[in-house]
Amino acid sequence: MNTFPRIVLKRGKEKPVLRGHPWVFSGAVARVEGEVSPGEVGKVYSQGGQFLGVGHINPRSQIIVRLLTQKKEELGESFFRERISNAVVLRKDWSRERTNAYRVINGEGDFLPGLIVDRYGETLVLQCLTAGMDRLKEMFIHLLVKELRPHSIYERSDVMTRNEEGLAESSGLLYGKDVPEWVEIEEQGCRFRVNVKKGQKTGFYLDQKENRFALGEFSKGKKILDCFSYTGAFSIHAGSGGAKDITLIDSSQEALAIAEEHFRLNQLEEVPHRLIRGDVFEVMRGIETGYDIVILDPPPFAKKKGHLPGASKGYKDLNLWAFRLLNQEGLLFTFSCSHHMSWDLFQKIVFSAALDSGKSVQLIGRMGHPWDHPINLCHPEGEYLRGLICRVL
Ligand code: SAH
Repeated sequence: MNTFPRIVLKRGKEKPVLRGHPWVFSGAVARVEGEVSPGEVGKVYSQGGQFLGVGHINPRSQIIVRLLTQKKEELGESFFRERISNAVVLRKDWSRERTNAYRVINGEGDFLPGLIVDRYGETLVLQCLTAGMDRLKEMFIHLLVKELRPHSIYERSDVMTRNEEGLAESSGLLYGKDVPEWVEIEEQGCRFRVNVKKGQKTGFYLDQKENRFALGEFSKGKKILDCFSYTGAFSIHAGSGGAKDITLIDSSQEALAIAEEHFRLNQLEEVPHRLIRGDVFEVMRGIETGYDIVILDPPPFAKKKGHLPGASKGYKDLNLWAFRLLNQEGLLFTFSCSHHMSWDLFQKIVFSAALDSGKSVQLIGRMGHPWDHPINLCHPEGEYLRGLICRVL
């Protein structure tokens, strides 16, 4: 391994790495020894010459190294096979009988920074977010086929963050049979159709599954408002749980058309429901009150730290209106999926919205990532989904 480039850190900058953090920022680097191209494997050392780990280097990115191991080991096929099978074991234990759609590999959370793999039935969807992982695509296809025997593997590396790595967006069939336009999945008894080629994210919001299950259990006889519904996954779980009336709001006509189909697919067309295409911020201001449950699952408002003040205003406004629309004893399921929004700040915003609404509000639960989205404890940045369940008195 001696021929690998060496990244030598500035004095004191080894501390986060010694604590297990997988990222090295370019500002922490004193010098790079050797020729480095994006995605190459390199070794990281402290100023004092201590070996710190091996990872993928990308001089174009602010995160100049993503460490894969702190041991002196080779990053060959057997290394990745073991990491993948560790990830697969967790999902096999957890997903049984609940769902055939789940995240198989969650990047840093599965100690594979830059690699995302989602499973939709017999189809796998792969995302390589870094140059290092992009170089290994063929090997991952081979390992995933051996481990999971999918019918197809489809690439959805069409994300903007690839630009920061100097990579073009890329999508298409990587392995097996062509993927049909709609892949059907099952989530705790509810059926959904997912467009893995064109849908948002890799086609479905897999990260919300446990929270949808929770909603289903509270929904019997309730009037529901599902804001930012996408294809109606929360609504369908609510309907299956016995909701008496459901309103969905989303800005995407395409998503709402699929939501309507989901009502049919789940034999819920008899449940009174309406789909409103529009901006939630505006629609909420004009809609009637009297809901028993409101769900707020907006897109990330704070993708960068600098966006936090604006994002906070947005969250406050939404939550204030949600409290206004709720009946006494009504429940609010409210989420933030902004990386930079901490639990503390999110809770403060929701509480301040409650105060402004003039209602008494209890916090009765918290919601977060499901098991198939594990977080590496040394990489808290991996946690982004934060949800609160509030009850209006
Ligand atoms: N709850 C969904 C996921 C929501 S993702 C699920 O469980 O599947 C966020 C959704 O918000 C997207 O479908 C997007 O189309 C929609 N959206 C974004 N901004 C919006 C706005 N201002 N008003 C209405 N919908 C919006």
